[in-house]
Amino acid sequence: MNYRETFHPSPNFSASPAHENLGVCFHHSVMDFESALAHLQNPASRVSYHVLIAPDGTRARLVADTHVAWHAGVSSFQGRTDCNNFLLGVSFAGDTYAAPLTADQLASALDWLAPRRLRHGWTPACMTDHRQIAPARKNDLAPAEWTRLLAAITARFPTII
Ligand SMILES: [Zn+2]
Repeated sequence: MNYRETFHPSPNFSASPAHENLGVCFHHSVMDFESALAHLQNPASRVSYHVLIAPDGTRARLVADTHVAWHAGVSSFQGRTDCNNFLLGVSFAGDTYAAPLTADQLASALDWLAPRRLRHGWTPACMTDHRQIAPARKNDLAPAEWTRLLAAITARFPTII
């Protein structure tokens, strides 16, 4: 299915990454889609993701893939710190502790992932969430939803490049 994708430029980004994009960090926004969009476009928030995915699967892109979005904060993944520099940020609108990801959110995330996975040679090991890279500080995604998401990724992209 082709989900609608729009571009809502966020002022909250750095111009160039220090590293090649090594993978993806998934988040939830807690806020609903419209509130989150406004927050992410507000310079005072100093927060952004590369893309925000609504419950109906609509994707709002906020920061170009070639720029650094401000989504991870103090974080560590596979021995590297400052994960904003090498992980793209994908957020699901809503709170995964209050409601599970919708089927459209999962399918839309996989559609977003498909061309980038090929371009960058990502495997499921290149996927993480905010809870895992900032464990004492952040709790997104809910563990059960992370498990669902990773299972969906592995099912859609079973082959290792
Ligand atoms: Zn997060």
